[in-house]
Amino acid sequence: MALEEYTKKRRFEKTPEPGPGMGKSRFPENYFCVQRHDATRLHYDFRLEMDGVLKSWAVPKGPTLDPGLKHFAAHVEDHPIEYGDFEGNIPAGNYGAGSVMLWDRGTFELLGTGTGAEQMAKGDVKFRLHGEKLTGEFAIVHMKGRGKGNEWLLIKKRDPSAAPGWDVEEHATSVLSGRTQEEIAQNLPARKAKQKTAGAADRVWASSRPAKRGAKTAATPAPAASAAKKKLQKSTGAA
Ligand code: MN
Repeated sequence: MALEEYTKKRRFEKTPEPGPGMGKSRFPENYFCVQRHDATRLHYDFRLEMDGVLKSWAVPKGPTLDPGLKHFAAHVEDHPIEYGDFEGNIPAGNYGAGSVMLWDRGTFELLGTGTGAEQMAKGDVKFRLHGEKLTGEFAIVHMKGRGKGNEWLLIKKRDPSAAPGWDVEEHATSVLSGRTQEEIAQNLPARKAKQKTAGAADRVWASSRPAKRGAKTAATPAPAASAAKKKLQKSTGAA
């Protein structure tokens, strides 16, 4: 089945990551999520639920609301739906060791023609996200005949939610716990009130006032953000 590779790479007695079949009722249909993963190289894992599993890509530069950018996305193994709200630390010595932040979550509407599986097979998946940070139309497109065959591009479409100049590292806190990556790495408790990032409310406000669109919407950047940003800029591959 589709989750064989996921299961083969992990020893569930050694990692807090969920095994398949641990309960999926808490997830809506057409769920999506993005995890910020500080592994060997910092990257973002972008996941779309299709046919009961999370189709997954590792995106070194992260998703963006800037429609002028096309970010490389390495197609990786399907993850179980139960991974969709995972946040925590994968211990040293395990596959993907490092801290994992639930960076965004929500639902998506499939656009274009054909089922999700058909669009995946075509290498051109069109969708509209309803996340806390990511909203509006996107596409993820396979670059055929290149390298290892797992090379895709994640692209924001031009629509009212597009924000030229948007910087993913200005929004580096958890939608689950409000924590920074460093706070997750140190196993600190969730913040009582989640830090304000550029959430859906901000986006609606911005898109109803076109003059402000694209303005920097970040509140106070986390102390770890600038170091993490440098690390991110240096990284070129996926993990
Ligand atoms: Mn990852």
